[in-house]
Amino acid sequence: ARASPLVQFLSGRLSLCRTPQAGPKSILNRLSTMKSTNLHAVIAGGGLAGALLALVLAERGYKVTVIEKRADLRSEAAAGGRSINLALSERGLHALSIAGLRNEALKQTIPMRGRLIHGVDGSTKRLPYSSDPNEFIRSISRPGLNRLLLQAAGKHPHISLYFNSSVLSVSPGTQVVEFQPDGEPIQRVEYDLLFGADGAGSAVRASLGLESKDVFSREMLEHGYKELEMPALESGDFAMPHDALHIWPRGTYMLIALPNLDNSFTCTLFLPLDGDPGFNQLNDPGTVQAFFETQFPDAVPLLPNLQGDFFGNPTGMLGTIRCSSWTQFGNSLILGDAAHAVVPFFGQGMNCAFEDVSVLASMLDSNPETAWPELLSAFEAERIPNANAIADMALENYIEMRDLVADEGFQFRRRVGLELEQRFPDRFIPRYSLVSFNRVPYQEVQEMGRAQAAILEQLCASKSNIEEINWSQAENLVLSLPLIG
Ligand code: FAD
Repeated sequence: ARASPLVQFLSGRLSLCRTPQAGPKSILNRLSTMKSTNLHAVIAGGGLAGALLALVLAERGYKVTVIEKRADLRSEAAAGGRSINLALSERGLHALSIAGLRNEALKQTIPMRGRLIHGVDGSTKRLPYSSDPNEFIRSISRPGLNRLLLQAAGKHPHISLYFNSSVLSVSPGTQVVEFQPDGEPIQRVEYDLLFGADGAGSAVRASLGLESKDVFSREMLEHGYKELEMPALESGDFAMPHDALHIWPRGTYMLIALPNLDNSFTCTLFLPLDGDPGFNQLNDPGTVQAFFETQFPDAVPLLPNLQGDFFGNPTGMLGTIRCSSWTQFGNSLILGDAAHAVVPFFGQGMNCAFEDVSVLASMLDSNPETAWPELLSAFEAERIPNANAIADMALENYIEMRDLVADEGFQFRRRVGLELEQRFPDRFIPRYSLVSFNRVPYQEVQEMGRAQAAILEQLCASKSNIEEINWSQAENLVLSLPLIG
């Protein structure tokens, strides 16, 4: 098979994939010859990707300035408010280990070993993520993780952090970033390298001209989301089993819940913005109460502030951002959600953003003498197809979560998939596991997933019992798959 751009780059076989445009020649020469210790990297956004990137660059000798719009999360006051959590999996953990933060982050996580499905009648069913007890995803607080990264960044002598400061624009010609601290005059800072880690609404992306029609698309989902808190019981215990990701799948919509360290759960309702049912219909307390009591009856007694949360918390929007160009002028790059926001149904947005950082780190470490223009070109050649693949898989997974998980045929195919993994572990690892417990590039996972789905379809057709599976047919089919790893 053809080596991926990353493999070609690491083995020195990939030359410039794209000529950097219009950047003053002197800049490119400078970036080709200067040692990292002389280079100043400015990072717009001190969120998850930006803070991790700052650590990775500073450790490699760069002088780093991070400009973050929000208040400093290291102070408890700024971090207060709703607890929002995320599913952290292997790709994110690997990137955190590069920054030496894996163990610290793990202390803040709660293992989720499978999905716990809630029926309309209040019945529950557990669907494990893997047959290997060491494979599970973890719930972690978003502000808690961001705080951990910023605390480490704040202690690093090469990193300067600016909070309450919005990046307004970039002048690529003069290599200057304009930013404005709240209530103060506009300031300017020069850069040698610029990174846009400023999220889905990236100001850097717009300033660098990466939003033109031919390279950029933003596709909004017709579904939104609402976060609701399920507090700990009066006894202090979790209100539901805490070792699972809870799902109330209801066909065109769903409620999910992830556990928090304070024994609460953060629940999220994903629902059409305009539909029957839809957010447009849930306009008054009576309608909301009736909707929850009919659809999620076992959750209602555990949501004491349902009305307050429903009408107090915003309805969030979801979308997919794809850019076919992430770099400009040989000295600037967008990454994380700024380059590839995805819908949250595979729990991979942050994991993919962190993987951007770990791939960049491994490119820097493997070829320390490589010029930045070349490195950035190789980086985007490697990452863009993978970001597009997880964007597709995340959209598909919404249907799996809100609908298919409740379907017996789906549950049966999933069981057979886990059995195939046990029997043929070097050829068949289910797609969910390849995404969440491995670091096989997303694009390869997507291709393997299609082949696996076809095999499962063939093996499980008109069967409902694992004893009916023809294992010699299974072996023949699985042996047609390439070896993994
Ligand atoms: P962000 O986290 O958006 O950070 C960008 C930072 O830039 C912010 O701190 C922002 O304040 C700052 N900023 C913005 N504009 C400016 C400016 N002009 N100047 C300076 N600073 C600026 N991912 C997972 O891996 N697992 C999950 O389970 C998961 N669940 C999710 C659930 C929901 C409901 C949603 C919406 C997303 C979920 N995600 C999940 C996705 C994840 O939140 C994002 O992919 C991740 O936060 C991307 O990190 P980032 O640093 O690129 O962007």
